[in-house]
Amino acid sequence: MNAAVKRSRPAGSVTGIDATLAALQQGEAMTVIADRDLEGTVGRCRRCGYVTAKSRLRCEVCRGKLEQVSFPQVLPLLVRRSGARLELVGKESAGALRALGGLAAILRFRSHQVP
Ligand SMILES: [Zn+2]
Repeated sequence: MNAAVKRSRPAGSVTGIDATLAALQQGEAMTVIADRDLEGTVGRCRRCGYVTAKSRLRCEVCRGKLEQVSFPQVLPLLVRRSGARLELVGKESAGALRALGGLAAILRFRSHQVP
């Protein structure tokens, strides 16, 4: 079951807010594809700047306090900092993307994978 789900995804990409944020902050993302109408908030660590979509009070990296920030505002900053490219898609393509959480990334490499 799990293996089938993994196989059905294109190699070298992640989908969903959590996976995309993680890939971005690990420097793995090459292109980030986002729904143009993306909205909502994410938690950003006041101490180290780590961004997470998980609802928690403390940063999972440094245990610092998280503050809620606007996701559409913080996403371009993260993308720029990691040297990735941000691609916004409109209504036609966003339907499929929205089903995946409104966010996906194409990776340059996978840190947990041996080439
Ligand atoms: Zn932190």
